[in-house]
Amino acid sequence: MKIICIGQNYLEHIEELKAKVPQEPVFFCKPDTALLIRNRPFFIPDFTKEPHYETELVLRICKVGKNIEPKFASSYYDALTLGFDFTARDLQRHCRQEGLPWEICKGFDNSAAIGQFLPKEKFPQGVQNLHFEMKKNGQTVQKGNTSDMIFTIDRLISHVSKFLTLRTGDYLFTGTPPGVGPVAIGDQLEAFLEGESVLRCAVK
Ligand code: MG
Repeated sequence: MKIICIGQNYLEHIEELKAKVPQEPVFFCKPDTALLIRNRPFFIPDFTKEPHYETELVLRICKVGKNIEPKFASSYYDALTLGFDFTARDLQRHCRQEGLPWEICKGFDNSAAIGQFLPKEKFPQGVQNLHFEMKKNGQTVQKGNTSDMIFTIDRLISHVSKFLTLRTGDYLFTGTPPGVGPVAIGDQLEAFLEGESVLRCAVK
């Protein structure tokens, strides 16, 4: 199983990180040891002073695929949820500046929190007009709509599958909207997909 994460897929988030708008989707992978499931708590690792949440729509891949055309992409996932792409922002800044790989800032243990999956049939409007939201300690801190993605989900699956074979059980994080921010010990995070709570996480 692998966890594929799209970076920089919402314009306003790119602006808040002062990054460049990509011409093609950008992605990286997290190892399976990054997975955090069943609403388990997130323990802040001691190597970062700037742990951040990024709330993202996550797809579950349901069959093997390679070189998938965009028009067939929707048959390669069967369920959706929200996830937190936990990021050590201070280490990420360092990796960016030095041109180093991202495993230490993005792929560390428990950095991929994944909520309860909902079957895609639950969303007859399709996946490109879904509202999601994250509340930290009861206050909304992040709001997004998948209609604001720079690259559509069909395009993301097509692009990623040129380079990596998709397999049943893989997960695809589709990028974060604006509003990313820090987490601290004692925070309670809760993410809502079309108003339904799908992911909770206590920060310890
Ligand atoms: Mg992200």
